[in-house]
Amino acid sequence: IDGYNACVYVDPTPDLLKSLKKRQQEDQKKQALLQELKGKPNTTLDGKTINVFANIGGMSDVGAVQQNDAGGVGLFRTEFVYLNCKDFPTEDYQFEAYKQVVESLAPRKVVVRTCDIGADKTVDYMKLDHEDNPALGYRAIRICLTRKDFFKTQLRALLRASAYGNMSIMFPMITSLRELQDAKAVLEECRAELTAEGVKMGQNIEVGTMIETPAAVLIADELAAECDFFSIGTNDLIGYTMCADRGNDTISNLYQVYYPAVLRSLKNIIESGVKAGIMVGMCGEAAADPLLEPLLISWGLEEFSMSAPSILRARKTISQWTKAECDELAEKALACNTAAEVKALLESAAR
Ligand code: PEP
Ligand code: MG
Repeated sequence: IDGYNACVYVDPTPDLLKSLKKRQQEDQKKQALLQELKGKPNTTLDGKTINVFANIGGMSDVGAVQQNDAGGVGLFRTEFVYLNCKDFPTEDYQFEAYKQVVESLAPRKVVVRTCDIGADKTVDYMKLDHEDNPALGYRAIRICLTRKDFFKTQLRALLRASAYGNMSIMFPMITSLRELQDAKAVLEECRAELTAEGVKMGQNIEVGTMIETPAAVLIADELAAECDFFSIGTNDLIGYTMCADRGNDTISNLYQVYYPAVLRSLKNIIESGVKAGIMVGMCGEAAADPLLEPLLISWGLEEFSMSAPSILRARKTISQWTKAECDELAEKALACNTAAEVKALLESAAR
């Protein structure tokens, strides 16, 4: 299997096998060198600390977080807790699932995303209607805000689990200020209930929002005033900005982070967050793109969250750039007119 080029060879020729083995050995050497970064501070070449975190789907991913020396978790996709159940998971079941994760990673921060069910992630027991365009349909926060009991079950479980570690909470698929305010209001309602019940909770739980829709990009300044942090979800943001489904091979040339429209969106989000004094992170796959990382540093991204195997490589890339060098590259990238031009520029500058 040639994972770099997404190819599987059933009966490779000896020459092909030889070249793939060579590539594998080179990769193993690189991996071995990267191990030396473990335990070291994670900074740019001119000393700015950057968080490199992991994305997880549950307790089974915690080992990889530790093995790859991630500073924390920037995205815990809680919908996997729902996908692993045959019926609605109870508050106690969810409490245990969240508690195990935050407790085993404490004092590291764990950013938990509330349920992002719908579209490509569905469960039969929710009995969601068939939709022609599920990615633009009834999903994520839209479900949570209309099925308040369902949402409250999760939020109560999260607040209870927050007592056992360092938890932040964020909401997916936000498209308006009202949605963010309503989600925060339900969270506060749960907090008040649990306080009245005498349940212990974490003290300083930060509340943030994912920025993964063009609507959120355009009102990023208003959203920033209402939350503690942003986490950019490029997987959805690229798709919704370019109107290109991430799973559709026919138009995959449009599904690229290098398009000027996407780059300008990223800059706008990060700068809006920085201006409002809130932390801006990224948990979409683009955070693990070594070509993009210098631009994100230039604009002020503070937290990069990715699948665990990419962490050490990202730390290496980040350590090779100064802010001034990133700024120079970012300026050139924004002056490009096409995605191909941007990509060629970033490739020529790659370290
Ligand atoms: C994203 O959209 O970038 C993201 C992290 O969320 P998901 O991939 O789970 O939709
Ligand atoms: Mg998403």
